[in-house]
Amino acid sequence: MTTIPAFPARDYSFTPWVDARNLIGGRWVDAVQPHGTLDVVNPRHGRAISKVTLSGAADVDAAVQAAKLALPAWRELPLRERAQVFYRLRELLVRDMEALSWLVSHENGKLLAEGRAEVEKAIECVEFGCSLPNLAVGTDLEVSRGVTCEQRYEPLGVVAGVTPFNFPLMVPMWMLPQALIGGNAMILKPSEQTPLSMIALGELFREAGLPDGIFSVVNGGRETVEALCDHPGIQALGFVGSTRVARAVYARACATGKRALCLGGAKNHLIVVPDADPQVTIDNIVASFTGCSGQRCMAAANLVAVGDVEPIIDGIKRKAAAMAPGADHGAINSLASVERIKGYIDDAEERGATVAVDGRPAIDGQAAGYWVGATVIDHVRPDMPTAREEIFGPVLSIIRVDTLEQALALENDNPYGNASCVYTTSGEVARRVMGRVEAGMCGVNVGVPVPREPFGFGGWNDSCFGAGNMTGWDGFRFWTRVRKVTTKWALQKDWTWMS
Ligand code: NAD
Repeated sequence: MTTIPAFPARDYSFTPWVDARNLIGGRWVDAVQPHGTLDVVNPRHGRAISKVTLSGAADVDAAVQAAKLALPAWRELPLRERAQVFYRLRELLVRDMEALSWLVSHENGKLLAEGRAEVEKAIECVEFGCSLPNLAVGTDLEVSRGVTCEQRYEPLGVVAGVTPFNFPLMVPMWMLPQALIGGNAMILKPSEQTPLSMIALGELFREAGLPDGIFSVVNGGRETVEALCDHPGIQALGFVGSTRVARAVYARACATGKRALCLGGAKNHLIVVPDADPQVTIDNIVASFTGCSGQRCMAAANLVAVGDVEPIIDGIKRKAAAMAPGADHGAINSLASVERIKGYIDDAEERGATVAVDGRPAIDGQAAGYWVGATVIDHVRPDMPTAREEIFGPVLSIIRVDTLEQALALENDNPYGNASCVYTTSGEVARRVMGRVEAGMCGVNVGVPVPREPFGFGGWNDSCFGAGNMTGWDGFRFWTRVRKVTTKWALQKDWTWMS
């Protein structure tokens, strides 16, 4: 296997890197059934830093065959030994923190600090994997005199992960520790827009001593994902991306009898009541909708203002207006996304909403790259597209209501169910909202209520297709199956029905 040089950038200057190839059987290889080649663009510069070839079904099959070859020896290892690879991987991720943070920043367009936070969260996921030897103990019980039932977690076989552009290192790490330590081999299909972090990870896995074939990377787009769904040699598929694709991938993967868990998009509502702490609320909401330029499934989308919260709304507008694209938030992933976000702002304005803080000038105001500045749209009506659809940019829509009941009705009327938050100093208000909102991940005065490890990450409704959460213990359960072993050693007389 060729050794790929580490990503060299240590600032935001334009830095090309290697082309994204497939990792199959421990070797970086070109696609044998290419469906075309795409530029990998650094959104800050709007220029290609790499290229990626879109793979076909033959490439997926090659990865499955390599994984099948490697699996028997890997699954024979005790779970504790498989976890050792991740102990070493953790040290390597810490060692390469700077290079990886810059790589994430360059391929995705986010700020270095956001890249660092992503690497840190990826490490946290690895640490959860490292705790599995202490968690994944089976159970047993004497179910009848002399008869013991035992349950053990066993691997599924070859499994697949499909991930989005917005967290190119962290989201794959939602799946890999549990899947691999659980004894599986995983084929990872990163976003074709951000395939470079998986190159760095492939090299680190090799250094950590992961056997060839246990982690494969197959680059590509729709055809590649469909080939993963259709391949009979793949037992389970985890997906993270938009709702439209999550729904289709879930149906297709299930149609071939696979276990599937597909996380989708979001439209997160943040309810603000008059007793909320003004400064905490202002800082938190602005951080939520502008962090990663709003390209997070946990980002604030709609602020539901209950009654008179004008000082908070004014503070949010002032703070958002002072944000500088490139310094206070990063770039948008593609030109198409810039146009989509601008389209939503234009549309809201045409329908009578007020663009109180306008990020559109940033689109033309930068010498290069893909930008939209922090945007606050006030007096949005619940029926407007900006209130109902996922914008996935640094845009906050403010909807005003009179009562908490109206706020809850509004939140529960949206088909997504990823995150929701309430800003209040009242325990009773918090309790009411937390008991009623249709969202899987909820915050009280926390605008990005990501359940940190070991709590599982996953939404409800149109934000999740399949059962359970992607991370934490649910993730381990998803990537393993339970064997039940019933044993009777005592050769006593037939005195129970199980004898
Ligand atoms: P996307 O749905 O466009 O792509 C996700 C993956 O699906 C990529 O690997 C892509 O190659 C593949 N894909 C795209 N179109 C496909 C098709 N027609 N058939 C099969 N596969 C296809 O998502 P994105 O733009 O990369 O990421 C942003 C979206 O992901 C947002 O909607 C965001 O909310 C969501 N997201 C959700 C979570 C979560 O945990 N719920 C986390 C991160 C991102």
